[in-house]
Amino acid sequence: MDEILKSDRLTHLKYDIRGPVYEKSLELESQGYKIISLNIGNPATFGFDAPDEIVHDIILNIRNAQGYSDSRGLFAARKAVMHHTQNIGLPGITINDIYIGNGVSELIMLSMQALLNEGDEVLIPTPDYPLWTASVAFCGGKPVHYVCDEAADWNPDLIDLENKITPRTRAIVVINPNNPTGAVYDKSILEGIARIAEKHKLIVFSDEIYDRILYDGTVHYPIAKMIQDTLCITMGGLSKNYRAAGFRGGWMIMSGARQRAKSYIEGLTLLASMRLCANVPTQYAIQTALGGYQSINDLVIPAGRLYKQIMLAYDRMTAIPGVSCVKPKGALYIFPKLDLTQFNIAHDEQFVYDLLTEQKVLVVAGTGFNFLDKNHFRIVCLPSVDELTVALDRIEAFLESRRK
Ligand code: PLP
Repeated sequence: MDEILKSDRLTHLKYDIRGPVYEKSLELESQGYKIISLNIGNPATFGFDAPDEIVHDIILNIRNAQGYSDSRGLFAARKAVMHHTQNIGLPGITINDIYIGNGVSELIMLSMQALLNEGDEVLIPTPDYPLWTASVAFCGGKPVHYVCDEAADWNPDLIDLENKITPRTRAIVVINPNNPTGAVYDKSILEGIARIAEKHKLIVFSDEIYDRILYDGTVHYPIAKMIQDTLCITMGGLSKNYRAAGFRGGWMIMSGARQRAKSYIEGLTLLASMRLCANVPTQYAIQTALGGYQSINDLVIPAGRLYKQIMLAYDRMTAIPGVSCVKPKGALYIFPKLDLTQFNIAHDEQFVYDLLTEQKVLVVAGTGFNFLDKNHFRIVCLPSVDELTVALDRIEAFLESRRK
């Protein structure tokens, strides 16, 4: 019998956050083992509830949400995003500059599908949120990774970034605050990226899904405010700031030189209309989410649950000899580095696999984020302090068992 083969376009794609080690964890769970899963940034599964107001809006409007909406999104949802741009000081954004999607994930894929021809290059940070690399590759593009420098708080290396521009480069992806590193980029670095993009006429895609998850007084600068002469597309959503990942709600905002992007915007609109619309019940929650009181603020202050958890993970990991970590300024993760001269560990993937099978703790290897050095891993800091403590105890015990 002829085997049914997957598309050739999938051959080199990977998404390790839910990859083979994750599959192994499901197998262990089916055998009765309890796994502490620190691999997916899904707040609801760790007892973070979406704000009641958001849930109420969806329930109240569910009957109004039975039909398709405009492909770009409900007027009220887009207007709310437009008001958000006014509040952050990004002038001149109209409702037609805003598209609503089924989460940022859909918009990442859609924006790459609309842009790329075979062999077009897109500059993506390493380490990255791997959907960016996978989407570029899936759409026939070539992901080219620019270095984020651990020694500079994981800020992008502007020299490396500019050196990697070729005649085929179309765009620069910025992930700020960053997953997996927890970096929030310096203003001067963002200014530098904006100038490079304008000079080389590259589109900037700025994934800012964690823009309200900031620690220790860190300020987040939207790069869109620094860009006039080229197109900038900023993405945000409900999944993290509003702990509503399952509702699948996100938006993208076009700013800067839209007048030079008529054809691309036509392409985006065509693709948005081919998928009819984003799920409508969730669109009813966007206005409430973006306006008024921001309950995430209570979680990121020093007395807040998120802050306590992420700093616990940071303190515990950096207290282990042979483990170092840049202190996170935002997002939900830490990205520690193992000094492999001190441990009997071959590489990050071996570490992650053995940690899972021996200690029943699931983390993601640094190479899963398209990072070349095989000595990092990412911890999702969403479990309660008690559960996280158990997980951190086990990671420490595992490392001690491998100490040279
Ligand atoms: N962008 C980044 C940087 C992320 O970390 C994630 C999810 O973890 C996403 C996008 C996907 O977001 P959404 O749930 O809106 O699809």
